[in-house]
Amino acid sequence: MSELKKIQSDIAKVSNFYAQTFKIGRDKDWYILKLQEEMGELSKAYINYTGRGKNKDGNFQNELIEELADVFAHLLLLCDSLDVDINKAIQEKWLRFI
Ligand SMILES: [Mg+2]
Repeated sequence: MSELKKIQSDIAKVSNFYAQTFKIGRDKDWYILKLQEEMGELSKAYINYTGRGKNKDGNFQNELIEELADVFAHLLLLCDSLDVDINKAIQEKWLRFI
């Protein structure tokens, strides 16, 4: 199992626990909607991190890093929900050039 596949599997376990704990129904659309929600949070964190938000005080690096992790995790969850082997897709789409 590739490292990415292991991460994807572990993230799915956490997401399953989250959904059960908070009684969240995850239909087919849920995964892409959550990814979009997290993209919004990442954009806000980036705005704060680059000093373009209303709050100028504070270090926003942690917020930025956490939102990057959320986006990455939700992208992997979306791949999982669509039965997409993202490792294979990256190999074929990106890494074939090197
Ligand atoms: Mg988030």
